[in-house]
Amino acid sequence: MVDHGNRMENTASTLPDTPTITAIATSPGPGGGIGIIRLSGPDALAILNKIFVPAKLPATGQFSSHCLYYGWIFNPRSGQKIDEVLAVYMRAPHTYTRDDVVEIHCHGNFLILQNILTLTQEAGARQADPGEFTKLAFLNGRIDLTQAEAVLEVITAKTSEGLLLAVEQLRGGLHTEIQAVCDLLVTVKAVIEVAIDFPDDDLDILQPDTIAKQLKHDIIPVLENLLSSADNGKIYRDGVSVVIVGRPNVGKSSLLNSLLREDRAIVTATPGTTRDTIEEYLNINGMPVRVIDTAGIRNNTEMVEQIGIQRARAKLAEADLILMMVDSSTPVTEEDLDLFGSINEKPLVIVANKSDLCDPTTPPNLAEHFPGQIIVQTSAVNGDGIRQLEESIFSIVTSHFSGWDPGRTVAPNMRHQASISKALASCNDLLNGLAQNLTPDLLAIELQTALDHLGAIVGYTTTEDVLDKIFGDFCIGK
Ligand code: GDP
Repeated sequence: MVDHGNRMENTASTLPDTPTITAIATSPGPGGGIGIIRLSGPDALAILNKIFVPAKLPATGQFSSHCLYYGWIFNPRSGQKIDEVLAVYMRAPHTYTRDDVVEIHCHGNFLILQNILTLTQEAGARQADPGEFTKLAFLNGRIDLTQAEAVLEVITAKTSEGLLLAVEQLRGGLHTEIQAVCDLLVTVKAVIEVAIDFPDDDLDILQPDTIAKQLKHDIIPVLENLLSSADNGKIYRDGVSVVIVGRPNVGKSSLLNSLLREDRAIVTATPGTTRDTIEEYLNINGMPVRVIDTAGIRNNTEMVEQIGIQRARAKLAEADLILMMVDSSTPVTEEDLDLFGSINEKPLVIVANKSDLCDPTTPPNLAEHFPGQIIVQTSAVNGDGIRQLEESIFSIVTSHFSGWDPGRTVAPNMRHQASISKALASCNDLLNGLAQNLTPDLLAIELQTALDHLGAIVGYTTTEDVLDKIFGDFCIGK
């Protein structure tokens, strides 16, 4: 266990042996007009001075902090000019990492970015690890661990609602709620510690009823509430997984295209041409929905399709909702009913496709074949029923998450959820301990356990493994 608590008070961490790190901070590949190389560490300014010539320096002859300078990056060995850039030096501690930071804004050509990156390395910087800038911001106490995680979520958010949650966490919303509970627990801990010091008067000092009341009213419900709001995170951050199944040619690929309103899946009139699973993200009322079009699930056919079928079955197992498609312009077949029989354990919508081909005088009697199921009629070709299908997906999925509340902006992730559960269990044990008149030193142990679990969320006490896992998911340059 590493105690990061003290470092939260730091202003700047720049120590003589701290390395200066460097990375391309913008996404690789062509298309970006501008690319940025970022350096952080004690030698950032010295490195900039070696490879950058400003068109004009201030009268002091020094770069002013947080000012942009126009000039050229050049190779100090050959004197060759590399690119026309804007460079900024930001003096610690008012920087992203709280160390000295330099950014070089060049043209967004990967060769230029790679050249400048190499020059910064030749001048003494080390290539940054994934997430290392944000890890420094955490270790140097500018942000807590939930905010560090939020940086990645802001970058990867798939819908504006997901982004809202990420930004709220970045702002410190979750930290504030966790900290408030920690503050209350610390007050209780202080009382228990006094009771330990004065064993003869421990019951008078402890007042178990008062502590129990505080746990029941001010601490446990807050943790329970935080736990239930994790469903919001699951829905808006991670999204849900919807799998489309149905026999070949009922219109699965066409439906996916219709939902995406673009031609992504390959659509043909020959059965079995969607060889593998195809996945795309939809945004349904702010909920990221991963829609997976499966190869027609059948038990025969050639090898290639068999592989697709196996993958499809694996996807089915992890689906939050299944869209089972039938062709409503033809009678329901044995194959449809077999498939239905094998999947009706999961939340399901029967998508009765090809409504445009149906004879309006003889509507298909689907309710008889699929009793009690939600049935939505669609035409993947002309778009009829698609909006209704989206609404059904949204209401079925959200009704399966008991804690879903669209107004809530704090949303613990799975890591937070696990720690909150453990802290909650310790608080309940503490409550039982009070009822059973346990000695103050035993109560103190339970309470400290709750505090440690909450501390792990914000990063006061966290193992290196957890840090490696969190920052390892980042891209380089963040
Ligand atoms: P899949 O094998 O289930 O993925 O089916 P496809 O999406 O490849 O569609 C098979 C054929 O049915 C294609 O010719 C589609 O154009 C056609 N099709 C799909 N949906 C509809 C629909 O709603 N109405 C009509 N008329 N044709 C459709």
